[in-house]
Amino acid sequence: ARDDCEAYRHARTRTADGREKLLYANVASAEECRSACQNGCEGVGLFRSEFLFYQSGEQLPTEEAQYRVYAEAVRNMQGRPIIIRTFDAGGDKKIPALKLEADENPFLGYRAIRICLRERTLFKTQLRALLRAGREGTLRIMFPMIATAAELREAKEVFHEARGELLRENIPIAEHVELGIMIEVPSAVMMSDLLAREVDFFSIGTNDLTQYTLAADRGNKRVANLYSHYDPAVIRMIAHTIESAHKAGIPCGMCGEAAGDASYVPLLLGLGLDEFSVTSRAIPALRAAMARLREETCRELAARVLRLATREEVASVLTGTGED
Ligand code: PEP
Ligand code: MG
Repeated sequence: ARDDCEAYRHARTRTADGREKLLYANVASAEECRSACQNGCEGVGLFRSEFLFYQSGEQLPTEEAQYRVYAEAVRNMQGRPIIIRTFDAGGDKKIPALKLEADENPFLGYRAIRICLRERTLFKTQLRALLRAGREGTLRIMFPMIATAAELREAKEVFHEARGELLRENIPIAEHVELGIMIEVPSAVMMSDLLAREVDFFSIGTNDLTQYTLAADRGNKRVANLYSHYDPAVIRMIAHTIESAHKAGIPCGMCGEAAGDASYVPLLLGLGLDEFSVTSRAIPALRAAMARLREETCRELAARVLRLATREEVASVLTGTGED
């Protein structure tokens, strides 16, 4: 099986019936972009930029410091696309330099895009660094935790401000940068038909989407029985999001853990997911697995799963054991 996977490491991702898919990597540093390419990724679907902000101690990273890291990350991709997520702090991710007050409900509180839209200078600094780094290859920008269309519009406004500033300052920037959002809040799923008209791509964040759909903290062991991407409600959220994306003519990816769950991949293929962003070590084996799957058959599987009522029923169909 190992040799079998090796043959797929640097191949294109294709199902047995010839449908082209994309296997991207989740990374958290410029260095990891290099190993992701060695593992055969066709791009990076999630570059978690937060690490720059944790590591920065009492000081926030400057535009220059961020630019160097993003530019290196983009260069390390050697032409492959890279989706950099703007900083996703708060929740359980603490940023010392921001000196944030503790929230009573951190996951429902002041985090991610909510901080960026309040701390505009911080956000604009990051967007400026990204626009500059985009000249080194194919950079896409993704906003996390979008809950409303108003937030998306505001984030795009800051992006255009940053762009306008750089142009006026005669600083070279990427000609075109695609903008996308993470779909990880149920309100965004419900609004996905309209959100899809305002962005270039979606990426579903199942780690958060699962916790928000089921109102079950992703880190709390006492509610771990509820927290599962096998839950039918989560699957319906995913199905709805992909459908909205495709109706609007944009691609839909996934960068939560679920995208790399081998038992779940046939379902995701059946629902029409375009891009799977996973830990890069998993790529050769996933590509080999997809090459053995027919989309046609996966579609029948998805239709069947969408009629199920419980997580256990879904698990028994997808894994054949009732375990997930
Ligand atoms: C997610 O929520 O699924 C996701 C990919 O983001 P993170 O795990 O960084 O919150
Ligand atoms: Mg998330």
